Amino acid sequence: MKANEKQLLLQMDRQHVWHPFTQMKDYADTDPVLIEKAEGVYLYDADGNRYYDTNSSWWVNVHGHAHPRIREAINRQLAQMDHVMFAGLTHRPGIELAHQLVELTPPGLDRVFYSDNGSTSVEVALKMSFQYWQQTGRTGKTKFAFVENSYHGDTIGAVSVGGVDHYFSVFRPLLFAASAVPSPDVRKGPSAEACVAEALEGARKLFESSADELAALIVEPMIQAAGGMIIYPAAYLQGLRELCTQYEVHLIADEVAVGFGRTGRMFACDHAGISPDFMCLSKGLTAGVLPLSATITTNAIYDAFYDDYVKLKTFTHGHSFTGNPLAAAVALESLRIFEEERVLDHVQDAAAHLKEQLKRFEAFSGVANVRSLGMVGAFELYKDRAAGVRFDFAERIGFRVYLEGLKEGLFLRPLGDTIYYWLPLCTTKKQIDDIVARTETVLKRMG
Ligand code: PLP
Repeated sequence: MKANEKQLLLQMDRQHVWHPFTQMKDYADTDPVLIEKAEGVYLYDADGNRYYDTNSSWWVNVHGHAHPRIREAINRQLAQMDHVMFAGLTHRPGIELAHQLVELTPPGLDRVFYSDNGSTSVEVALKMSFQYWQQTGRTGKTKFAFVENSYHGDTIGAVSVGGVDHYFSVFRPLLFAASAVPSPDVRKGPSAEACVAEALEGARKLFESSADELAALIVEPMIQAAGGMIIYPAAYLQGLRELCTQYEVHLIADEVAVGFGRTGRMFACDHAGISPDFMCLSKGLTAGVLPLSATITTNAIYDAFYDDYVKLKTFTHGHSFTGNPLAAAVALESLRIFEEERVLDHVQDAAAHLKEQLKRFEAFSGVANVRSLGMVGAFELYKDRAAGVRFDFAERIGFRVYLEGLKEGLFLRPLGDTIYYWLPLCTTKKQIDDIVARTETVLKRMG
């Protein structure tokens, strides 16, 4: 791109664009990176500089950017049908995708309700659970439980069950009340088993005192992502499943971020061998290319809505772009790629390599809690690890790492002092080595 064209675009960005999850003042003297092309695991800016997309473009990308089969699937579908509404009408991509999702997700999940982003898939699960209890005579079950440190999206319902206070505290007066159960934050020690036992005990106490009021508990399986990339043992999920069954509380598994291979299994719930009552999917559902989400539930829940229209039991919820055929066609192609290109086999291999390579960070005096699961790796950066001193909020360590990363050809977007990778599943071992080596250079510069 010509220099003057680039400057004009950035000037217009400055004048008219308000970016998400961004303190715009951070860009008073710094421009956001103007990306012109994305291919494979790389992003290219307007000057032709290349960056590794280490967070898969907000945890969505699966097979790399510009995958030829995904492009062809969009073109094929576009030639046939762009968008049609999904009430009173149905279509092949929506039907076939629902069938595939039921086949792939844990047993018992048989009904697929589409929407168009991760937050709405969560809203749908919360509302369906609430309405289910209203229609089955348990009208007191109106409240929700969530896990501390959790994040489920930015719409009001999803924020109400969110546990990352500094994102959401300003909205507190607007939210419905929900109860937090302890996070299995294994970083606190003394051991993973002890953390899980303590966290489950906290959940049990809440259920004992208020199961009659609880509609559902929502959890991010295996990784609490936005809350700090907290990777926890499958035993916590198994424990929650048992408690939810025992106390008749729905279990909502929010797989929006972790679904579709990111943790090394197709779904993170597969690590625990559990079936939730609702599973929320988005992001990787379309290989990270088009917006689509699905909330999948059981026939038992579906049946509580199935009645004569006059009984007013309909689930009155739907978005304009629900079940978009282009997105559904892309999702189907992505699932074919998973199978035909043996993507999960590659992930096993690459994930083991990533785990090994991450150990290199343990040599850095400021690095703590190096961890990984599948294609996700993370660690915390301390000011003085030996003395347990963390960076002050005002020091903007995450933003500084982002800026230094760019100089090294890495697009990193830390969560505060938690530096992480959320790699596209197609990342090769050689690319992992390169990403780790470049990150080492960044860390050396941080002093
Ligand atoms: N749930 C989880 C676990 C997420 O990580 C996210 C987004 O990061 C969401 C829900 C919300 O998804 P979206 O940003 O598509 O609304």
